[in-house]
Amino acid sequence: MSRGMKGLKACMRCKALVRVEEERCPICGSTEFSEEWSGMVIIIDPKRSRIAKLLGIEKPGRYALKVGV
Ligand SMILES: [Zn+2]
Repeated sequence: MSRGMKGLKACMRCKALVRVEEERCPICGSTEFSEEWSGMVIIIDPKRSRIAKLLGIEKPGRYALKVGV
């Protein structure tokens, strides 16, 4: 699996993917990010998505499957 993607970083708390220029996570408000992440999942309808439940995702958006090294 390729590591990260240029221009995106992952929230350490909720795994949301945001642009590197972003200072605060739009999903959970955290300011801790990691540029070491892998796998991207796009959640459109968290209530109907099994993977959203698996990852504990409650809001639609782009998320990393794995954050950190
Ligand atoms: Zn977050």
